[in-house]
Amino acid sequence: MSDNQRVFAFGKDFQGNNVTEGNKDMKATLGGKGANLAEMASIGLPVPPGFTISCQTCMDYYHNNNQFPDGALDEIEKYRLDLEERIGKRIGDAEDPLLVSVRSGAPFSMPGMMDTVLNLGLNDLSIQGLIKQTENPRFAWDSYRRFIQMFSKVVMDVNGDLFENAITAKKITRGVKGDNELSAEDLESLVAEFKDIFSASVSADEYPELVVDGAVQFPQDPDMQLNLSIRAVFGSWMNDRAQLYRRQNKISDDLGTAVNVQAMVFGNKGETSATGVAFTRNPANGENEFYGDYLVNAQGEDVVAGIRNTSPIAELKEVDGLQGAGQELEEVFKILENHYRDMCDIEFTIEQGKLWMLQTRVGKRTAQAALHIAICMVEEGLITKEEAVLRIDPAQLDQLLHPQFDKGATYDVVAKGLNASPGAAVGEAVFSAADAVSAAALGNKCVLIRWETNPDDLAGMVAAEGILTSHGGKTSHAAVIARGMGTPCVCGAETLKIDAEAKQATITGTDIVIKEGDMVSIDGTTGIVVLGAVDLVLPELTGDLDTILEWADGFRRLGVRANADNPEDAQLSRDFGAAGIGLCRTEHMFLGDRKSIIQSFILTDDPAARDQALDDLLAVQTEDFYGMFKAMDGLPVVVRLLDPPLHEFLDDPRSLEVEITKLEHTGAEADVLRTKRNLLSRIDSMTEMNPMLGLRGVRLAILNPELAAMQVRAIAVATARLIKEGFNPEPEIMIPLVSVTPELETLRGETKAVLAEVASEYGVELNIQIGTMIELPRAAVTADEIAKHADFFSFGTNDLTQTTFGFSRDDVESKFIPRYLERKIIPYNPFETVDPGVAKLVKIASELGREGNPGITLGVCGEHGGDPDSVMTFHEIGLDYVSCSPYRVPLARLAAGRAALAEKHNASDNR
Ligand code: ADP
Ligand code: MG
Ligand code: MG
Repeated sequence: MSDNQRVFAFGKDFQGNNVTEGNKDMKATLGGKGANLAEMASIGLPVPPGFTISCQTCMDYYHNNNQFPDGALDEIEKYRLDLEERIGKRIGDAEDPLLVSVRSGAPFSMPGMMDTVLNLGLNDLSIQGLIKQTENPRFAWDSYRRFIQMFSKVVMDVNGDLFENAITAKKITRGVKGDNELSAEDLESLVAEFKDIFSASVSADEYPELVVDGAVQFPQDPDMQLNLSIRAVFGSWMNDRAQLYRRQNKISDDLGTAVNVQAMVFGNKGETSATGVAFTRNPANGENEFYGDYLVNAQGEDVVAGIRNTSPIAELKEVDGLQGAGQELEEVFKILENHYRDMCDIEFTIEQGKLWMLQTRVGKRTAQAALHIAICMVEEGLITKEEAVLRIDPAQLDQLLHPQFDKGATYDVVAKGLNASPGAAVGEAVFSAADAVSAAALGNKCVLIRWETNPDDLAGMVAAEGILTSHGGKTSHAAVIARGMGTPCVCGAETLKIDAEAKQATITGTDIVIKEGDMVSIDGTTGIVVLGAVDLVLPELTGDLDTILEWADGFRRLGVRANADNPEDAQLSRDFGAAGIGLCRTEHMFLGDRKSIIQSFILTDDPAARDQALDDLLAVQTEDFYGMFKAMDGLPVVVRLLDPPLHEFLDDPRSLEVEITKLEHTGAEADVLRTKRNLLSRIDSMTEMNPMLGLRGVRLAILNPELAAMQVRAIAVATARLIKEGFNPEPEIMIPLVSVTPELETLRGETKAVLAEVASEYGVELNIQIGTMIELPRAAVTADEIAKHADFFSFGTNDLTQTTFGFSRDDVESKFIPRYLERKIIPYNPFETVDPGVAKLVKIASELGREGNPGITLGVCGEHGGDPDSVMTFHEIGLDYVSCSPYRVPLARLAAGRAALAEKHNASDNR
């Protein structure tokens, strides 16, 4: 293969020798489909021969103003001639024509994103050859009308409804119901009608090459058909749907798509022909069973489109004329699984009893199936435990932590469909993708209800909490996309009669109507549809998930803690496997009925009232900590001293102003007015221009030492009481937002003094670690000094991201980060996945911190601690633990295990 080879052959030559030039590892060049077609051909599976035009050619085409780069057309021509020779038929031949499909295939699978043309090469001459060879005029005319229809839609962008309407009209005049009842003559006359539609719909200005005798004609020249089709596939790489999908899935726009040109095989040649899609195991729950659907006497996308009712693949072996192919298919399943060492997804066609493989790839699956398959494959000896852990995508685990219907809830099931993608969703009914998008923009949860979805619905499917369709099976568009996104989906709920225009659905046989805006609940795990909102609960960690997480625990070096502020969340964190609390935010303890106490502390000038407020706070805080430490008995709990600006606990000055104005008008008592006015001026005096950069964190404790002392005392007393009761509490005290060492030194001294007091009052020994957050660049770069006064560092990567970028999260995330992402100024949101610049500060501070204090413990308590990519970064930096929200603890455990394994594998690769 030369470096700039653009086209690659796959399949056999005329003598039956394998002449495949690619393999499964060449996805970047051949795309996924092309690489796997090559691989299947090489391992001896029956693949119709063809060739693949590389992804680089697509990108070169773009960069060359949408024109083929030099030499590309010649190379394609050479491979086309070679294909004709290998098969012994010529495209467009009047006696025995070769027909081909033109198929897109990007390096990453993009279901439904790119378009395919079947039966290419048919024209008014070659149709006669096809009739002669097959002695089946009906089949031949059906193939021709499909070709014109697909070519017009996919390549020329003609409205597909025009053709569907013509077919419907034909069926009505013939008095038949199904497409398959139309005769050869009917189809022949449809071909003529289709050509007229083509001529009327395609612009002569845009396609001067198609003008014959002054009018646009359906192209008869197979070369032109092929050329236009290849260009259309290249063009589809940049269509809106494809771009949206790539943005959703973080796939680069620079990869391009390959084009596969492949000899056609026909599943529509009668009752011993069929076409189908299958998975080598059940992709919904992972059971080791044959899974998929097929249709007799059908072609290509008929199965996925849900046009006719399909049959389950397991029955194939029992159908006359298809048994042989059915048996062979089961063998192929085994060969593929052993070869790819994974569950595969396949497309096949049976032409007059003979099996042909048209596609395979490692199959998409639900999180539940991913876990089950990985564990079974370890048991079967196919993969190792390490591989099993590496195969589970932590982000996908989210699915399992998805809500389910509360077992205790009562509800009436109004419809049932297929359980296509697990998890339950509740939201208002919407009947179009656009409505789903607008509902989500208003912050409303919605369930998208469609007859069946198609790629144009993608934006709405992303916006919806759940997806409900009345048509299509478990391999329909809605099902495949929903599973990929982890969105709950119920499909094929046939009793649902949807009127998308009127934005409502009736349940057949009842007078129940679901109108736009009505709350509906769906359960994608069971297929149930409920009118009304059902209470949801989160499932527990059991079974397969537990097994995989235990394996991951065995590999990981990073500890995982949780961020929790109350005993319930603490308990949940423990259940999810957290090894402690990495961040207990005390400000959350000052809300609700506590708010008035802190308010009186902040607002009064009277020392006695202040002391009273502090006493009251001490009492409630002590109980808070007592509960937390008890729930986390034996495990560390990092308590952060008060962090946010105090005025966050105060009332909104604007409403107070309104109240005062009202009182003035109603002539309220002078006393009342005076108090209110004093309050307002006090609140006003606390207002800051940039509170995020103002009086908060350790600065508060420096200005209000009695507040910090109260909190330390509460921690110490709770600890002392628990020790006396025989528990083993392990609190750690964390000082936020330190920028200069003396801040920490001062607080550390004051904290130690309070701890010593309480220790002697209670007669217990209090070994409570004192550490700080590193969340300001100044702290990061002077961490060696700071570390001398800290037992631990915890990186507050949210604030560190804000202060490193100079971004205020609340402002930028809604205002300009989306634009930055669109314009590719930044590759991802730095508040979701840690930015390399911020990571560099974490690394510097870690190294300096260990220099200043070799025994220091290093953790992360920003939200990044639950993001799998960030976990990888923190592992590489060599931190001791990450801390994240309780529900992300399982993800972080898995991500940490995978990070350790990835490092190990990279190390051995470099050896
Ligand atoms: P997608 O990426 O949307 O799955 P494909 O290229 O796989 O598109 O093609 C769409 C449909 O056409 C599939 O059902 C496929 O099996 C069928 N198909 C593609 N090429 C051929 C062929 N050479 N012979 C018969 N059917 C084909
Ligand atoms: Mg396909
Ligand atoms: Mg912070």
